[in-house]
Amino acid sequence: MEIAKRLAEKVSNIEPTLDVFDEKFFPDRNEEKEVVTSYFLFMIAIDHRTRVGGTYQKEIEGELFFGSDLLFRLAKLKLDADPDFYTARNMANLSINDFKDVFMPEGVILRDPEVRVALLRDLGSKLLTLYEGKALNLLDRANERIKGGPEDPGLLEILKTFIAYSDPVEKKSFLLMKFLKRRGLFNPKDLENEQVPVDNHLLRIAIRTGLLRLDKSWFPLLRNERNSTLEEDTALRMMTRVAFKIVAEEAQISPFLLDDFLWSHGRLVCISEKPMCEKCSIRTACLGEGSWFGWAKEPFNDNWYY
Ligand code: SF4
Repeated sequence: MEIAKRLAEKVSNIEPTLDVFDEKFFPDRNEEKEVVTSYFLFMIAIDHRTRVGGTYQKEIEGELFFGSDLLFRLAKLKLDADPDFYTARNMANLSINDFKDVFMPEGVILRDPEVRVALLRDLGSKLLTLYEGKALNLLDRANERIKGGPEDPGLLEILKTFIAYSDPVEKKSFLLMKFLKRRGLFNPKDLENEQVPVDNHLLRIAIRTGLLRLDKSWFPLLRNERNSTLEEDTALRMMTRVAFKIVAEEAQISPFLLDDFLWSHGRLVCISEKPMCEKCSIRTACLGEGSWFGWAKEPFNDNWYY
């Protein structure tokens, strides 16, 4: 709680940094709602671990893109060229070659393309069978709720139908909701159920700042001496989610806004190798101002959840 309060003071005045209307990566402002919803539904389904096992980067028209940015840049170029690409029917029949043509241009390595194709095909075929092939039907069914019950599910329960969205800690589900909310397509009434989408960056920051206080038995994992089990991964990320919810509440900001800050902080400042503690805006809230757990890395678990 002490660290949560200190972090909350640091982030209470942050502004959104993710521009969900950036036409380099995302559908244009005037694009049809179904196209926008489908685009985010399919793309977030495959937005995981783009840089593990290789360097997913490429220069396009003189600009270097890497990781998730490259994935979305290539996706947007495809949307511009072929607006029907992100439809349920097309995705249900997607081949590995179709996928590689779009997301793996020559010289670019992307981890587990077969898994990503399987996730897209599962999503496309279930969307066809259960929701008449329309992504907007998921939102209609959710009736502006994040969470519901078995008879009256919210978007969180509805998304669990799809393998891509089956993460116990619901990272991709909350990331999708963040995009749809900012685009004005999903306006949940139950904001108390909003959570940060916990990925490797958020987990790393939670560990290094001491927001998660882990005893010594966890240290071999933090040194990446072995991979974490799925149970360990789920426990750590769920604790991270709960902890950042407290930070957001203390700061009186939304978890999605907090995620903007944390994600770019993890990507640019509190990076995996040698965090830049001297430049860090939350340094005085961090345990030992970065000197206690600056060495720690987030444990690695091999999954497609985040
Ligand atoms: S002080 Fe260092 S370890 Fe702590 S959050 Fe900042 S960059 Fe990360």
